[in-house]
Amino acid sequence: MPKRDYYEVLGISRDASPEEIKKAYRQLALEYHPDRNPGDKGAEDRFKEANEAYSVLSDGDKRLQYDRFGHAGPAGQGFGDFTGFGVEDIINDFFGGIFGGGGGGRPRRGADLRYNLTVAFEDAVFGAEKEIVVPRVGRCGDCSGTGARKGSRPERCGACNGRGHVTLQQGFFSVRRTCGRCGGSGQVVKDPCGACSGTGQVRESRSLKVKIPPGVDSGIRLKLRGEGEAAPAGGPPGDLYVVLTVQEHPFFARNGADLLCEVPITFPQAALGASIEVPTLSGKKTLAIPPGTASGHDFVMRGEGVAALNTGRRGNLVIRVLIEVPKKLTRRQRELLAEYQELSEASPGPISRSFFETVKEIFG
Ligand SMILES: [Zn+2]
Ligand SMILES: [Zn+2]
Repeated sequence: MPKRDYYEVLGISRDASPEEIKKAYRQLALEYHPDRNPGDKGAEDRFKEANEAYSVLSDGDKRLQYDRFGHAGPAGQGFGDFTGFGVEDIINDFFGGIFGGGGGGRPRRGADLRYNLTVAFEDAVFGAEKEIVVPRVGRCGDCSGTGARKGSRPERCGACNGRGHVTLQQGFFSVRRTCGRCGGSGQVVKDPCGACSGTGQVRESRSLKVKIPPGVDSGIRLKLRGEGEAAPAGGPPGDLYVVLTVQEHPFFARNGADLLCEVPITFPQAALGASIEVPTLSGKKTLAIPPGTASGHDFVMRGEGVAALNTGRRGNLVIRVLIEVPKKLTRRQRELLAEYQELSEASPGPISRSFFETVKEIFG
């Protein structure tokens, strides 16, 4: 289901004041609270939707980001968790502390990113270095990610004394929550940076070199530590995961470290034996076909496969020979084959002999 606009959810205009936002949310929270609507899935969804809308629009930074980027949010992948202090705070005011406390005051980490990269068969087998351009939310260069205007510094948050969390007494329990004023960073920005509106984050396209180790296969995830999105308020950045898709090769099929290649041969080559040229990763090589080779026979060339990603040990190359039956014959070829057939009828091979003997035994 497509997400509804947060302003629409709360039924307010886009220039609503913080007081109006709070008031609209209170009304909805009271109306749709699960305690008042037991078993009503629709009410529960409305309640969650209102919580989410409120947690974003009640936070100055998040609201700015939402106005600029919509639901995609600052990280390009939504606004993350919706259990901010503000929501709990209000719900607890109204409903008597039925919600548990949030986390412990660590600054939030930036979002992880995924990048899908298609690589050529050879690059996956031999390794390569590729350059990719990743659109992401990065650290603002003007304020070094602090969100404070150049020359000023974020100040210690008075609400939590810079600890990033507050401890609340609730009856017999004391509950530790992420500080709502500073979002867990322990710092507040009095004079916001103009380049990033005080968020410490900017949109950017970052160009990165990705080292592809030899032996990778489709589905492998390469982790680039710290190359994900920048975190708000000076937290650690997320990681970037490069997910690989390996292109198919015209004649090598891959099965882990092993390779399979189907090579056509003629009936006389199979019957008489032959020395044929086969492709390998290191160029053409000669393979001896012994006389009397069956169609579909596999010849294993040890160590001619792909170097395994973990051990570096090379797999095998399997050459499967397939007899190609000619569709068109010259007159001379037809004459020779007819003569060959006459001679063969007198002395059938062991497979034919045993098959027809069995058929005769059963059907008479
Ligand atoms: Zn900035
Ligand atoms: Zn604080």
